[in-house]
Amino acid sequence: MKLKKSDIRSMPKVMIHEHLDCSVRPQTMLELWEKVGFGKCAFPFPSDLISKWQASSKLSGSAQKRARQAVAVQYQDYIADFATESLANYIKAIVDHILPVMQTHEQLVRITKERIDDAVADGIIAMELRFAPQLHTMGGMTLTQVMDAVVEGLKDSPIPVKLIVCTLRHENAEMASKLAALALQYKDVVGVFDLAADEEANPGVLDWWLQEAVKVREQSDYSIKLTIHLNETRAATDGERDTLKKYRIKRIGHGIKDDWPTVLELCPTSNVVTGQVKSYGDHPINRFFNEGKKVTVNTDGTLLTKVQLSDEYYKLNRQFGWTALQFLLCNLNALEASSFSFKQKQALRATLIAEYSALIG
Ligand SMILES: [Zn+2]
Repeated sequence: MKLKKSDIRSMPKVMIHEHLDCSVRPQTMLELWEKVGFGKCAFPFPSDLISKWQASSKLSGSAQKRARQAVAVQYQDYIADFATESLANYIKAIVDHILPVMQTHEQLVRITKERIDDAVADGIIAMELRFAPQLHTMGGMTLTQVMDAVVEGLKDSPIPVKLIVCTLRHENAEMASKLAALALQYKDVVGVFDLAADEEANPGVLDWWLQEAVKVREQSDYSIKLTIHLNETRAATDGERDTLKKYRIKRIGHGIKDDWPTVLELCPTSNVVTGQVKSYGDHPINRFFNEGKKVTVNTDGTLLTKVQLSDEYYKLNRQFGWTALQFLLCNLNALEASSFSFKQKQALRATLIAEYSALIG
Protein backbone atom coordinates (compact mmCIF):
# COMPACT_ATOMS: atom_id res chain seq x y z
CA MET A 1 0.00 0.00 0.00
CA LYS A 2 1.47 3.33 -1.06
CA LEU A 3 1.08 5.99 1.61
CA LYS A 4 0.64 9.66 0.74
CA LYS A 5 3.31 12.11 1.95
CA SER A 6 0.72 14.27 3.67
CA ASP A 7 -0.67 11.25 5.55
CA ILE A 8 2.82 10.24 6.64
CA ARG A 9 3.52 13.75 7.92
CA SER A 10 0.47 13.65 10.15
CA MET A 11 1.35 10.25 11.67
CA PRO A 12 2.64 10.66 15.24
CA LYS A 13 6.35 9.91 15.54
CA VAL A 14 8.93 9.52 18.28
CA MET A 15 12.57 10.13 17.34
CA ILE A 16 15.62 9.33 19.46
CA HIS A 17 18.59 9.95 17.16
CA GLU A 18 19.12 13.37 15.67
CA HIS A 19 22.03 15.79 15.97
CA LEU A 20 21.06 19.42 16.47
CA ASP A 21 24.09 20.69 14.54
CA CYS A 22 23.13 18.52 11.55
CA SER A 23 19.58 19.82 11.56
CA VAL A 24 19.85 23.57 11.04
CA ARG A 25 17.58 25.17 8.45
CA PRO A 26 19.68 26.16 5.40
CA GLN A 27 17.97 29.55 5.23
CA THR A 28 18.83 30.23 8.86
CA MET A 29 22.46 29.39 8.11
CA LEU A 30 22.49 31.92 5.27
CA GLU A 31 20.95 34.59 7.49
CA LEU A 32 23.46 33.92 10.25
CA TRP A 33 26.39 33.78 7.84
CA GLU A 34 25.32 37.09 6.34
CA LYS A 35 25.70 38.64 9.81
CA VAL A 36 29.01 36.87 10.52
CA GLY A 37 30.28 37.69 7.01
CA PHE A 38 30.24 35.17 4.15
CA GLY A 39 33.94 35.84 3.57
CA LYS A 40 34.82 34.47 6.98
CA CYS A 41 33.80 30.93 6.04
CA ALA A 42 36.88 28.70 5.77
CA PHE A 43 35.44 26.88 2.80
CA PRO A 44 34.04 29.40 0.38
CA PHE A 45 30.43 29.84 -0.65
CA PRO A 46 29.82 29.69 -4.40
CA SER A 47 29.90 33.32 -5.57
CA ASP A 48 26.63 33.09 -7.53
CA LEU A 49 24.91 31.93 -4.38
CA ILE A 50 26.05 34.98 -2.43
CA SER A 51 25.09 37.35 -5.24
CA LYS A 52 21.60 35.79 -5.48
CA TRP A 53 21.21 36.06 -1.72
CA GLN A 54 22.32 39.70 -1.73
CA ALA A 55 19.99 40.45 -4.65
CA SER A 56 17.11 39.05 -2.62
CA SER A 57 17.54 41.79 -0.03
CA LYS A 58 16.46 44.33 -2.65
CA LEU A 59 13.13 42.52 -2.97
CA SER A 60 10.32 42.62 -0.46
CA GLY A 61 7.34 40.59 0.75
CA SER A 62 6.55 37.31 -0.93
CA ALA A 63 9.01 37.92 -3.79
CA GLN A 64 11.84 38.10 -1.26
CA LYS A 65 10.54 35.06 0.57
CA ARG A 66 10.47 33.01 -2.63
CA ALA A 67 13.91 34.19 -3.72
CA ARG A 68 15.44 33.37 -0.33
CA GLN A 69 13.84 29.94 -0.23
CA ALA A 70 15.30 29.20 -3.68
CA VAL A 71 18.80 30.23 -2.56
CA ALA A 72 18.39 28.13 0.60
CA VAL A 73 17.57 25.06 -1.52
CA GLN A 74 20.62 25.72 -3.70
CA TYR A 75 22.78 26.13 -0.60
CA GLN A 76 21.53 22.91 0.98
CA ASP A 77 22.20 21.02 -2.27
CA TYR A 78 25.68 22.54 -2.43
CA ILE A 79 26.83 21.52 1.04
CA ALA A 80 24.96 18.20 0.98
CA ASP A 81 26.63 17.28 -2.35
CA PHE A 82 30.02 18.24 -0.98
CA ALA A 83 29.39 16.24 2.22
CA THR A 84 28.42 13.06 0.37
CA GLU A 85 31.77 12.76 -1.37
CA SER A 86 33.56 11.37 1.70
CA LEU A 87 33.40 11.20 5.46
CA ALA A 88 36.14 13.84 5.58
CA ASN A 89 33.97 16.17 3.50
CA TYR A 90 30.97 15.41 5.71
CA ILE A 91 32.92 16.50 8.77
CA LYS A 92 34.39 19.53 6.95
CA ALA A 93 30.88 20.68 6.02
CA ILE A 94 29.87 20.56 9.68
CA VAL A 95 33.04 22.20 11.02
CA ASP A 96 33.32 24.96 8.41
CA HIS A 97 29.73 25.75 7.54
CA ILE A 98 27.54 24.79 10.48
CA LEU A 99 29.45 25.16 13.74
CA PRO A 100 30.66 28.74 13.12
CA VAL A 101 27.03 29.93 13.21
CA MET A 102 26.23 28.04 16.43
CA GLN A 103 28.49 29.98 18.79
CA THR A 104 26.29 32.58 20.48
CA HIS A 105 23.35 32.41 22.87
CA GLU A 106 20.98 33.91 20.28
CA GLN A 107 22.13 31.53 17.53
CA LEU A 108 21.62 28.45 19.71
CA VAL A 109 18.22 29.57 21.03
CA ARG A 110 16.99 30.26 17.51
CA ILE A 111 18.32 27.05 15.98
CA THR A 112 16.87 24.92 18.78
CA LYS A 113 13.47 26.60 18.56
CA GLU A 114 13.34 26.22 14.80
CA ARG A 115 14.27 22.56 14.98
CA ILE A 116 11.40 21.90 17.39
CA ASP A 117 8.98 23.87 15.17
CA ASP A 118 9.98 21.81 12.14
CA ALA A 119 9.78 18.54 14.07
CA VAL A 120 6.29 19.35 15.31
CA ALA A 121 5.19 20.28 11.77
CA ASP A 122 6.51 16.89 10.67
CA GLY A 123 4.33 14.98 13.14
CA ILE A 124 6.96 14.35 15.82
CA ILE A 125 5.30 14.08 19.23
CA ALA A 126 8.42 13.52 21.34
CA MET A 127 12.12 13.60 20.61
CA GLU A 128 15.60 13.27 22.00
CA LEU A 129 17.94 15.82 20.49
CA ARG A 130 21.68 15.38 20.74
CA PHE A 131 24.63 17.71 20.56
CA ALA A 132 28.17 18.13 21.83
CA PRO A 133 28.12 21.27 24.05
CA GLN A 134 31.91 21.61 23.81
CA LEU A 135 31.63 22.41 20.07
CA HIS A 136 29.76 25.61 20.85
CA THR A 137 32.32 27.30 23.09
CA MET A 138 34.49 28.78 20.30
CA GLY A 139 32.78 32.16 20.64
CA GLY A 140 33.57 32.30 24.35
CA MET A 141 30.49 30.64 25.87
CA THR A 142 31.07 28.26 28.76
CA LEU A 143 29.57 24.77 28.76
CA THR A 144 26.80 25.85 31.12
CA GLN A 145 26.03 28.91 28.97
CA VAL A 146 25.71 26.60 25.97
CA MET A 147 23.31 24.35 27.89
CA ASP A 148 21.31 27.35 29.09
CA ALA A 149 20.90 28.58 25.51
CA VAL A 150 19.65 25.21 24.25
CA VAL A 151 17.36 24.83 27.27
CA GLU A 152 15.94 28.30 26.54
CA GLY A 153 15.31 27.20 22.96
CA LEU A 154 13.22 24.33 24.32
CA LYS A 155 11.26 26.49 26.75
CA ASP A 156 8.01 26.78 24.82
CA SER A 157 8.22 23.41 23.11
CA PRO A 158 4.76 21.90 22.64
CA ILE A 159 6.28 18.39 22.70
CA PRO A 160 8.47 16.66 25.29
CA VAL A 161 12.14 16.94 24.37
CA LYS A 162 15.12 15.40 26.15
CA LEU A 163 18.71 16.29 25.38
CA ILE A 164 21.54 13.89 24.70
CA VAL A 165 25.05 15.05 25.59
CA CYS A 166 27.64 13.74 23.15
CA THR A 167 31.22 13.02 24.09
CA LEU A 168 33.41 12.75 20.99
CA ARG A 169 35.71 9.86 20.18
CA HIS A 170 38.80 12.01 19.61
CA GLU A 171 38.44 13.61 23.05
CA ASN A 172 39.70 12.30 26.37
CA ALA A 173 38.89 11.47 29.98
CA GLU A 174 39.19 15.09 31.06
CA MET A 175 36.51 16.30 28.62
CA ALA A 176 34.32 13.27 29.34
CA SER A 177 34.48 14.11 33.03
CA LYS A 178 33.44 17.73 32.37
CA LEU A 179 30.55 16.59 30.18
CA ALA A 180 29.49 14.02 32.76
CA ALA A 181 29.31 16.76 35.39
CA LEU A 182 27.37 18.94 32.96
CA ALA A 183 24.87 16.18 32.21
CA LEU A 184 24.31 15.64 35.92
CA GLN A 185 23.90 19.37 36.53
CA TYR A 186 21.18 19.46 33.86
CA LYS A 187 19.69 16.04 34.57
CA ASP A 188 16.13 17.40 34.45
CA VAL A 189 16.53 17.92 30.72
CA VAL A 190 19.44 15.62 29.82
CA GLY A 191 18.14 12.10 29.27
CA VAL A 192 21.07 10.32 27.65
CA PHE A 193 24.88 10.35 27.53
CA ASP A 194 26.46 9.41 24.18
CA LEU A 195 29.75 8.74 22.45
CA ALA A 196 29.88 10.09 18.89
CA ALA A 197 32.23 11.08 16.03
CA ASP A 198 34.72 9.19 13.87
CA GLU A 199 34.52 5.49 14.61
CA GLU A 200 37.24 4.61 12.09
CA ALA A 201 39.87 6.76 13.77
CA ASN A 202 38.96 5.82 17.37
CA PRO A 203 37.00 2.57 17.29
CA GLY A 204 35.31 0.57 20.01
CA VAL A 205 33.76 1.22 23.40
CA LEU A 206 36.38 3.66 24.65
CA ASP A 207 37.30 3.00 28.23
CA TRP A 208 37.62 6.65 29.34
CA TRP A 209 34.11 7.30 28.05
CA LEU A 210 32.68 4.17 29.62
CA GLN A 211 33.95 5.07 33.08
CA GLU A 212 32.31 8.50 32.99
CA ALA A 213 29.16 7.16 31.33
CA VAL A 214 28.58 4.54 34.01
CA LYS A 215 29.18 7.19 36.67
CA VAL A 216 26.61 9.54 35.09
CA ARG A 217 24.04 6.78 34.94
CA GLU A 218 24.53 5.82 38.58
CA GLN A 219 24.73 9.34 39.95
CA SER A 220 21.54 10.31 38.13
CA ASP A 221 19.78 7.35 39.75
CA TYR A 222 19.51 5.83 36.29
CA SER A 223 17.40 8.70 34.92
CA ILE A 224 20.24 9.34 32.44
CA LYS A 225 20.59 6.46 30.02
CA LEU A 226 23.50 5.51 27.80
CA THR A 227 23.84 5.18 24.08
CA ILE A 228 26.87 4.82 21.86
CA HIS A 229 27.51 5.40 18.16
CA LEU A 230 28.85 2.00 17.18
CA ASN A 231 29.09 -0.45 14.31
CA GLU A 232 28.29 2.30 11.83
CA THR A 233 31.42 1.64 9.80
CA ARG A 234 32.76 -1.64 11.22
CA ALA A 235 31.46 -4.78 12.96
CA ALA A 236 31.74 -5.17 16.73
CA THR A 237 34.48 -7.32 18.21
CA ASP A 238 33.73 -9.99 20.82
CA GLY A 239 35.33 -7.75 23.44
CA GLU A 240 32.99 -4.88 22.57
CA ARG A 241 29.98 -7.15 22.75
CA ASP A 242 31.07 -8.36 26.18
CA THR A 243 31.57 -4.78 27.37
CA LEU A 244 28.14 -3.69 26.19
CA LYS A 245 26.59 -6.67 27.90
CA LYS A 246 28.53 -6.25 31.11
CA TYR A 247 27.65 -2.56 31.40
CA ARG A 248 24.10 -3.03 30.17
CA ILE A 249 24.32 -0.51 27.36
CA LYS A 250 21.07 -1.14 25.60
CA ARG A 251 21.05 1.42 22.82
CA ILE A 252 23.30 1.68 19.80
CA GLY A 253 23.51 4.60 17.39
CA HIS A 254 23.40 3.09 13.89
CA GLY A 255 24.68 -0.47 14.60
CA ILE A 256 24.22 -1.50 10.97
CA LYS A 257 27.42 -3.53 10.68
CA ASP A 258 26.53 -6.06 13.33
CA ASP A 259 23.82 -8.41 14.53
CA TRP A 260 23.67 -6.95 18.00
CA PRO A 261 20.31 -7.77 19.63
CA THR A 262 19.59 -4.39 21.19
CA VAL A 263 17.75 -1.16 20.45
CA LEU A 264 19.06 0.13 17.14
CA GLU A 265 18.86 3.84 16.45
CA LEU A 266 18.78 3.47 12.67
CA CYS A 267 19.20 6.37 10.26
CA PRO A 268 19.00 4.83 6.77
CA THR A 269 19.44 7.92 4.59
CA SER A 270 22.41 9.08 6.64
CA ASN A 271 24.13 5.72 6.03
CA VAL A 272 23.58 6.13 2.29
CA VAL A 273 24.92 9.70 2.40
CA THR A 274 28.10 8.67 4.24
CA GLY A 275 28.57 5.67 1.94
CA GLN A 276 28.10 2.95 4.57
CA VAL A 277 25.51 1.27 2.35
CA LYS A 278 25.40 1.50 -1.44
CA SER A 279 21.74 2.41 -1.75
CA TYR A 280 18.57 2.66 0.32
CA GLY A 281 17.57 -0.80 -0.89
CA ASP A 282 20.82 -2.22 0.49
CA HIS A 283 20.16 -0.93 4.00
CA PRO A 284 19.66 -3.72 6.57
CA ILE A 285 16.73 -1.96 8.32
CA ASN A 286 14.09 -4.17 6.71
CA ARG A 287 15.99 -7.37 7.48
CA PHE A 288 16.61 -6.26 11.06
CA PHE A 289 12.92 -5.50 11.49
CA ASN A 290 11.88 -8.86 10.08
CA GLU A 291 14.36 -10.61 12.37
CA GLY A 292 12.58 -9.05 15.34
CA LYS A 293 15.31 -6.57 16.31
CA LYS A 294 14.31 -3.44 18.20
CA VAL A 295 14.46 -1.08 15.25
CA THR A 296 13.83 2.66 15.54
CA VAL A 297 13.71 5.13 12.63
CA ASN A 298 15.57 8.44 12.80
CA THR A 299 17.10 11.12 10.58
CA ASP A 300 20.53 11.59 12.23
CA GLY A 301 20.15 15.14 10.92
CA THR A 302 17.97 16.93 8.39
CA LEU A 303 20.47 19.22 6.67
CA LEU A 304 23.04 17.02 4.95
CA THR A 305 20.64 14.11 4.44
CA LYS A 306 17.92 16.45 3.11
CA VAL A 307 15.27 14.40 4.91
CA GLN A 308 12.73 15.12 7.57
CA LEU A 309 11.55 12.06 9.51
CA SER A 310 8.43 11.78 7.35
CA ASP A 311 10.66 11.56 4.24
CA GLU A 312 12.43 8.64 5.88
CA TYR A 313 9.05 6.95 6.48
CA TYR A 314 8.07 7.67 2.88
CA LYS A 315 11.23 5.96 1.62
CA LEU A 316 10.58 2.96 3.88
CA ASN A 317 7.08 2.73 2.49
CA ARG A 318 8.21 2.92 -1.14
CA GLN A 319 11.35 0.78 -0.78
CA PHE A 320 10.23 -1.94 1.64
CA GLY A 321 6.45 -1.60 1.69
CA TRP A 322 6.33 -0.49 5.32
CA THR A 323 2.95 0.73 6.49
CA ALA A 324 1.32 1.85 9.72
CA LEU A 325 2.00 -1.46 11.51
CA GLN A 326 5.78 -1.30 11.04
CA PHE A 327 5.83 2.39 11.93
CA LEU A 328 3.81 1.79 15.10
CA LEU A 329 6.19 -0.94 16.27
CA CYS A 330 9.29 1.20 15.57
CA ASN A 331 7.75 4.13 17.44
CA LEU A 332 6.94 1.91 20.41
CA ASN A 333 10.55 0.67 20.39
CA ALA A 334 11.82 4.27 20.37
CA LEU A 335 9.50 5.28 23.16
CA GLU A 336 10.42 2.32 25.33
CA ALA A 337 14.15 2.96 24.90
CA SER A 338 13.81 6.71 25.42
CA SER A 339 14.53 8.70 28.55
CA PHE A 340 11.04 10.13 28.99
CA SER A 341 9.35 9.68 32.34
CA PHE A 342 6.98 6.82 33.03
CA LYS A 343 4.02 9.20 32.88
CA GLN A 344 5.13 10.79 29.63
CA LYS A 345 5.65 7.36 28.11
CA GLN A 346 2.20 6.24 29.18
CA ALA A 347 0.55 9.23 27.49
CA LEU A 348 2.68 8.97 24.36
CA ARG A 349 2.07 5.23 24.06
CA ALA A 350 -1.68 5.80 24.25
CA THR A 351 -1.47 8.41 21.49
CA LEU A 352 0.61 6.17 19.25
CA ILE A 353 -1.64 3.15 19.71
CA ALA A 354 -4.85 5.12 19.20
CA GLU A 355 -3.68 6.92 16.07
CA TYR A 356 -1.97 3.97 14.39
CA SER A 357 -4.81 1.58 15.26
CA ALA A 358 -7.15 3.86 13.33
CA LEU A 359 -4.78 3.60 10.35
CA ILE A 360 -4.24 -0.13 10.63
CA GLY A 361 -8.01 -0.67 10.92
ZN1 LIG B 1 24.48 10.11 14.90
